[in-house]
Parts: sequence; C-alpha cells; structure tokens
Amino acid sequence: MSAPLSADQLLTVLRAEGVHVVEHAGWRTHNRNHKGPWGPMHGITIHHTAGRSSLGLVYEGTADLPGPLCHTHLAKDGTATMISAGRANHAGTFAQNAYDAAVSESSTHPRPDSAEPVDGNSHFYGIEIENLGDGKDPYPAVQYEAAVRWAAAICRAHHWTADSVIGHKEGTRRKIDPSFDMGKFRRDVAARLKTQPAGSGSSSSAPPRPTVDLSKLIAAAKSNPPAKGTPVTYDGVKTVEDALVKEGLLARKYADGHYGTATKDAMSAWQERCGFHGRKPGQPADGIPGLITLTKLGKRRGFDVKE
Ligand SMILES: [Zn+2]
Repeated sequence: MSAPLSADQLLTVLRAEGVHVVEHAGWRTHNRNHKGPWGPMHGITIHHTAGRSSLGLVYEGTADLPGPLCHTHLAKDGTATMISAGRANHAGTFAQNAYDAAVSESSTHPRPDSAEPVDGNSHFYGIEIENLGDGKDPYPAVQYEAAVRWAAAICRAHHWTADSVIGHKEGTRRKIDPSFDMGKFRRDVAARLKTQPAGSGSSSSAPPRPTVDLSKLIAAAKSNPPAKGTPVTYDGVKTVEDALVKEGLLARKYADGHYGTATKDAMSAWQERCGFHGRKPGQPADGIPGLITLTKLGKRRGFDVKE
C-alpha cells in the first residue's frame, strides 16, 4: 500500500472523508516527477502557508522554488484545492530520525537531527494550510476539521496510523510550521480514523480485533519449518499470515496456519521492508518475528501484539 494514490484516488478518498475538494486547473499533471522519485509513500507532512491569498503561490511556486509546493491548499473556509498528484516541493530534506519515526509509525516524534539525508518530497504528501503562522492567527474550526479529515483520508487509504503524520517542523529543524500542536493534531486524526467514512459499511458488524502472542508466534516460527508435515502449533500464525498476504508478501495458498518456510520468507521480506537486515552484511532478515516489526504489521492490518 505504499504506491502513491492517483489523482482520482485522492479525490475519491478525500470526498468520502467529507472534505470539500475543488480541482485547480491542470493539477493532475502538475508535478516535479521529472526532477526525482515520487514514492514509495511513507507519510504526510502538515504545513502552514505563512501568508494570505496563497493559492496561486503554492501552484506556481517561485523562481527559487518552482511549484507545485504541496498536494492540497486548504483555505480558511475549509475549501481544499487540489494542486498536485505527484512530486511537489513541499518537504525538502528531512532528518533520518524524523523520517524513521514516521515510517515506523512511532508514537514519539523526536526533535529532528541537524543532518538531513532524506528526500522528503519523494515520500510524503503535503498540505498547505492558509495561516499567517504567527501563533495569533486562528485556524477556524471548519479549516482545522478539514485538515484532520484530509490527513485521515490519506492515512485510511494507505492503512497508516496517525503517527504517519508529521509537521514540517518535526521533519527538519529549518522549519516552524505548522503553528499548532502536532500531538493534538495526531490525536484528532486518530479519533477520526476510528469513525467510518461516508459510503462505507457499518462498523457494528466488524469482527473483534485479534491479539497475537509474540512468544507463541516465535515458538511456531522456530519449530514449524523443520517439523514433519504442516503442523499448526499456534492459531495466531494464521492472523499474521493473512496480514502478510494483504501486504503482497505471501501467496494466499500458504496462509494455512503453519509457519513454514514460505511464511518465514514472507516475514523476512516484511522485516526488510521495515529496515531490518540479517546480522551479517548482505544477509537477509531472519524471518523470526520481532516486537517492532510485528507491531507495525498489526497496526496496518488490524491485530494487536501481546508480549
Ligand atoms: Zn512547511
């Protein structure tokens, strides 16, 4: 789910979330994809414009910083104008620790390091919220609520949690935007994500959320592959396999509750995707589940992890 949303997909998910969306002429093909990569997507960056009447500016940019300067411009009245569906000049470079926190959906977002090796523009969606950014100019409720819904819509589409959302000031020391508290903003996005968007089914029929016991899963991962036949030693394996299938890492036929070599390889691929590798250089991740990677899989695919 880390491929960028298309222009049509963006419109669909934002409107389903109740955002009042309008389309800037030419926005579908207005991007900087010729200047660098766009995707895989890892998060969302929130900005304030630090000015008024900024719609034209965020579309065109400046001589020094060509547009588009965001994906969406959010006016004071809550109108979200689509500016780009591709690479945009909004994030610039990010600190590694800030980037890692967003990618791993950490509940803590550290003060960014001064070194900034990450190209934020290739991995983050950006919204420019019209505000003077002086700490005095208010964000009208209709505008703030639209920003929450905008972020929630994209998180929902990617199966991200609210911890994939960072302020520009959390990605780099160079910036102070947005001028509101990002902890509160993430809590508001998380609350929004617990509701159902318009057009989706009722949540009352949703099955209970499963819990996977990490130690039982590890025992299965160690004992199942060398065992005779395809024994199922722990039923939580099936929950994890279904999640790996949804991630595109495991063929459906191997989601059988048996933690065999296919499941181990799929878990190894998931660990690699999370940035973990084997103990020696060039060696793949071991495919024995660990707390960080399993928790991340559960957050994305709907299960909890018990240590
Ligand atoms: Zn910014």
